[in-house]
Amino acid sequence: MCAAFPDFRLGSVLATSFTGTLSERHGNPVERIPTPHRLVDWLAVYGLAVDSCTPAQLDLARELRESIHAAATAAALQDALPASAVQVINDRSARGRATAVLTPEGERRWRLNPASRVADALGVIAADAISVIAGERDGRLALCASPTCRAAFFDTSRSRTRRWCDMNTCGNRQKKARFQAGRRQNASSTE
Ligand SMILES: [Zn+2]
Repeated sequence: MCAAFPDFRLGSVLATSFTGTLSERHGNPVERIPTPHRLVDWLAVYGLAVDSCTPAQLDLARELRESIHAAATAAALQDALPASAVQVINDRSARGRATAVLTPEGERRWRLNPASRVADALGVIAADAISVIAGERDGRLALCASPTCRAAFFDTSRSRTRRWCDMNTCGNRQKKARFQAGRRQNASSTE
């Protein structure tokens, strides 16, 4: 985890990392982009640097985030995709005009237009969500096994048996809970 941004959960898949900026949706939700400034920080971590962000743009970003979450959850459950979520994802994708460029080192970078940086960044995230939900990438959409989380994540493990959105948080918590439950059981059985 990046030391400068200790409260961001950083994953390798852009779209589901973005949905992870709201965690514990079924418990006590934790909003990791509470202000426009935090969204600017998050985008910078993912190579989508914008110089500023308005509260209205933050609202658009959060609407996209929840739409990706809804569509990815439906896809993981093999349910029909919610039409409103699909519409928001397509709208943000259509408004983005970022250009993919190849660096001399052979890496892909996104070039954002100075006049529409936030819209372009959201367009990149929306397009990433489309490729994941459409099943174009090697992996499987799944829901986190933690009952207070249930985040949609993209499982790229070879066996496709990943259970948690994030090993360091949900995975650890579940393991600890199981360990403590086991200890309680042992304690009561020896009494
Ligand atoms: Zn989780």
